[in-house]
Amino acid sequence: MDKTNSLKSFKRAQSHIPGGVNSPVRAFKAVGGEPIFMQSAKGAYMHDIDGNKYIDLINSWGPMILGHGKVQIERAVIEAVKKSLSFGAPTNAEIEMAELIAHMMPSIEKVRMVNSGTEATMSAIRLGRGFTKRDKIIKFEGCYHGHGDSFLIAAGSGAATMGEPDSPGVTKGTAKDTITVPYNDLEKVREVVMENPDQIAAIILEPIAGNMGCVPPVSGYLQGLRTLCDEYGVVLIFDEVMTGFRISKAGAQQYYGVKPDLTTLGKIIGGGMPVGAYGGRADIMDMVSPSGPVYQAGTLSGNPVAMAAGLAMLKYLNENTEIYTRLETMTEYIVQGIKLNVLKLGLKYTVNSVGSMFSLFFTDEKVIDFEGAKKSDLNMFGKYFNAMLNKGIYLAPSQYETLFVSSAIDEIEADLIIQASYDSLKEIHKR
Ligand code: PMP
Repeated sequence: MDKTNSLKSFKRAQSHIPGGVNSPVRAFKAVGGEPIFMQSAKGAYMHDIDGNKYIDLINSWGPMILGHGKVQIERAVIEAVKKSLSFGAPTNAEIEMAELIAHMMPSIEKVRMVNSGTEATMSAIRLGRGFTKRDKIIKFEGCYHGHGDSFLIAAGSGAATMGEPDSPGVTKGTAKDTITVPYNDLEKVREVVMENPDQIAAIILEPIAGNMGCVPPVSGYLQGLRTLCDEYGVVLIFDEVMTGFRISKAGAQQYYGVKPDLTTLGKIIGGGMPVGAYGGRADIMDMVSPSGPVYQAGTLSGNPVAMAAGLAMLKYLNENTEIYTRLETMTEYIVQGIKLNVLKLGLKYTVNSVGSMFSLFFTDEKVIDFEGAKKSDLNMFGKYFNAMLNKGIYLAPSQYETLFVSSAIDEIEADLIIQASYDSLKEIHKR
C-alpha cells in the first residue's frame, strides 16, 4: 500500500501541530505506525491522499451512523449555510432540536446545546453539584467523559492509550473530588457512597462503555445504580455521547430500560458537525443559567449549520427506527464471523458487542471492566490493526476504543471485514 503522501503530510504536520494531529489517538502511536491522511469519504468508505480506500469502522468516532455523505444531511447543511453561518441569537431550529430530542429520549424534559461531548459532561457535573450542593463525583475506571479536568482520572480512550491516566495540569484539588471505582461492580460503588455520606453529587458513567473497548453493563448494574442514586439523593448521569441515538432511538437508557436524571450527548446529535448537549429532569435543568444560578454559556452553541446537520440526522433516525435492527443484525453477522475466525485458527480471544458497537480483545478472559480490558495483548492488537489497515479495513487505532458499524455497511463490506480479519489473525500468528 502506497503511503507516500500521508508520510509527507505527517512530517509536515509535526512542525506546527503538537504530535501532528488535533486529537491524540489519531497519531497511531499506540499501534506503532504513522497516521493516514484522508481526502474524502462516501458511504462505508474513506479515501486517503494516496488513492487508497478503506472500509470505515470508526465512523468519525461515532457520528456517521448512516455512513458518509448522506444526502439529506448534506442538503440541510447547504441550505443553512446560505442563510447564515452564525447569528449568536436564538433560532427556531434550536427549538425544533430540543423538541425532537425530548420526543426521542423521554428522560430529557429540557436540554441545553453545547459544542462537544467534553462541554456536555463538564456542564452536567457542574449542574449536578449545583443542584445537590455537594462536591464529589463518582466515575468508573476506563470510562472516558472528554478531557475536562475532573474526568482525567483513571480515564479510558486516548488517556489510557497514551499512558496518561492522570494528566499533568490536573490539580490535586480537582482530583480529590473525583472518586473512581471499577466498572460493573455495584457493591464497590455502594460502599463508596456510604463512606461519603451527603458528599456525592453525581455518579457519571457510560451506560455501555466504549472507551476501554466495548464493555456492556452486566445484568442489573444500571438498575442497581438507579436504586442507589434514589436512596442517597445522588444525580445519575448517563454519558450517552457514544450510545445516544446509536444503541436505539433513545440510546442505552431505552435499551436497558433505566432512566437517568441527566444525559450527556454528542457525536450523532451533530450529524458530523461539532455538537454536544446535556439534558434531563426539568427541575434540575431549570437550575441552568439564565433560569437558574448554575452558569454555562457558548458563543457558538446552537449554531444554525450544526443544528441543521443534527436535525437532519435525528429526523432520519426518528423516522427510520428499523435501522437499529438492521445495524444490530449486521454487527452480529460480523461478530459471529470474527468469532468463527478465532475458533478456526485455534485461538482464544474475546469479542464483546452490543447494538452496532463491538471490540476484539486479545485475551481469553471475559472483559467486564478496565482491569479485564488491560489484559488484552496490546502488541498483538497493534499487529492486527496494521494488518487490517493494509487490507483496507480502518479500525480504531487503539485497543481502548470500540468499533462502530454504520448503516452503509452491507453484506459485501461485512464479508470483506470477516475475510480480512481471518487473513490478519493468521498472518500475525505466523512464527
Ligand atoms: N463522553 C464519551 C462517552 C465519549 O466517548 C467522548 C468522546 N469520545 C466524550 C465524552 C467527549 O466528547 P468530545 O470528544 O466531543 O469532546
